[in-house]
Amino acid sequence: MSRKLVAGNWKMNGGAAANAALVNGLLAGIGQPRCDVVVCPPAVYLHQVRGLCGENAVLQLGAQDVSVAEGGAHTGDVAASMLAEFGVRYCIVGHSERRRYQHESDLTVAHKAERALAAGITPIVCVGETLEERQHGLTEFTVRRQLDAVIQINHGRLAGMVVAYEPVWAIGTGESATPEQAQQVHAALRARLKAVDTDAAGVRILYGGSMNADNAAALLAQADIDGGLIGGAALKAAEFLQIVAAAG
Ligand code: PEP
Repeated sequence: MSRKLVAGNWKMNGGAAANAALVNGLLAGIGQPRCDVVVCPPAVYLHQVRGLCGENAVLQLGAQDVSVAEGGAHTGDVAASMLAEFGVRYCIVGHSERRRYQHESDLTVAHKAERALAAGITPIVCVGETLEERQHGLTEFTVRRQLDAVIQINHGRLAGMVVAYEPVWAIGTGESATPEQAQQVHAALRARLKAVDTDAAGVRILYGGSMNADNAAALLAQADIDGGLIGGAALKAAEFLQIVAAAG
């Protein structure tokens, strides 16, 4: 069984004082976790968070997005090579909020994953169905379509990525998928990865969507759930640490 991974997606939250309180709270309580722990602050705070973490490698740096371009005339973008040079180890790509508000297509997400992999950054590729898609029985069809775009562009390098199953209806709603619902999708994602590349069978598949201190243990106990991508609960040091403990 692979070492689990717990990543905090701070989204567009925080500020210098709040970040310092959060990171110091995490460092004070984290000890030696038995899982990998990543924090993904807004890009402008990566520098501050790197400084707060200091030499402590227990908290690893993640970005929330990366440019689909390699460099050049892309105002506002940050290249994967820049993130890597800065010490960023992970990068969320294809979060449903970016798919929705920035209209990112499956192909764009696949190319973002490609950029991250080429720069030595582990992409955390998000997939997930809307409530409507679930209600129409399209859950596995949707996540497979999203995953297949990434597979097609990144064949042969899939073992270097992480997948996050994030049902859109569970994100920020307080309504998590049940462990059984999540496990069913995770098993389907794993089967697909294994079918296209046996080396990718061990890719870590995180669950995200209203994971919190109360439901983390049951979700993380599922055979194919290898960690969590945490939004709201990642902003509270004590709760995030409880999730990290549940993943140990
Ligand atoms: C997320 O945005 O990736 C997420 C999982 O959010 P939340 O935990 O708040 O549902």
